[in-house]
Amino acid sequence: MTVVLFTLGGTIAMAGAGSTGVVARLTGADLAAAVPGLAEIPLDVRDVAAVPSAALTYQQVLDLVEAAGAAVADGATGVVVTQGTDTLEETAYLADLVWPHPAPLVLTGAMRNPTLAGPDGPANLLAAVRVAAAPTARDLGVLVAFNDEIHAARFVRKTHSTSTATFASPNAGPLGHVIEGQVRLLTRPPRHEPLPPVAADRLAATRVALHTVTLDDDVTLVEAVAHGRDGLVVAGFGVGHVPPDLAPALGALAARMPVVLTSRTGAGSVLRHTYGAIGSETDLRRRGLVDGGLLDPYKAKLLLRLLLATGADRAAVPDAFARHG
Ligand code: ASP
Repeated sequence: MTVVLFTLGGTIAMAGAGSTGVVARLTGADLAAAVPGLAEIPLDVRDVAAVPSAALTYQQVLDLVEAAGAAVADGATGVVVTQGTDTLEETAYLADLVWPHPAPLVLTGAMRNPTLAGPDGPANLLAAVRVAAAPTARDLGVLVAFNDEIHAARFVRKTHSTSTATFASPNAGPLGHVIEGQVRLLTRPPRHEPLPPVAADRLAATRVALHTVTLDDDVTLVEAVAHGRDGLVVAGFGVGHVPPDLAPALGALAARMPVVLTSRTGAGSVLRHTYGAIGSETDLRRRGLVDGGLLDPYKAKLLLRLLLATGADRAAVPDAFARHG
């Protein structure tokens, strides 16, 4: 049994202090050396990057998924990726959309950097390695192990800026826990078919915007945000509502590009046919917006960009959101 550890940086790998602040510089070997109990599982460490997670790109994540897939094809039981927590909910979902293997790919990080009292990185790394090595974690796609909880990439959110309990799955709850070192899965959501491979040039050429609707919003802003893009995600109020002024503008955009309706609330689904006012979900669907279902705006943006980059036509977009949302 071997677990391959890829490191990308983030708070878990940060060092330094004082007036200049901590920066990502610890290697995978450094991280592993700080974890009592890790020696019982053979670890193959590969340092990929040492950056804050705000610096990561879709292409880096897709390259990492490929390297992780090669490690699994070479016999690894599972894969762990350490990175910053800020974008972890997005990188995990992006990886999950394309991960075709039964072996677990497990992401983790830390909220308290190694220079602080009680850093959470070592415990999170140990839990992630245990999940990656667990036979029961197979066929669940990409997982996030954090604070001794196991979350599905498709449900997980970063919900707090500083808490070590920041990762939660508001729509589903955790899939399981790590209890006294044992991986305990409580539920197994069905897997979706992975999306086809994405060519780097198509990905780079495909641009998708996200607009979060706010009170008394500015129509020209949403038009500017969508200008020159191939698709748009709208994070609407509540169950998927926008100010009445925005509705015709979004309808006009939907005639030119896929426009996906999501909720800015952080949990729950957009509705389909409950409210009837101008700018309601019923009105926006009539104007051609795609129902984002339970997907949050960030995940919807990832799915839409991958769909468009892999050549999905207009009809395929609502179908894909109906499956994934
Ligand atoms: N800003 C850091 C990052 O995302 C936060 C973290 O690592 O937790 O890289």
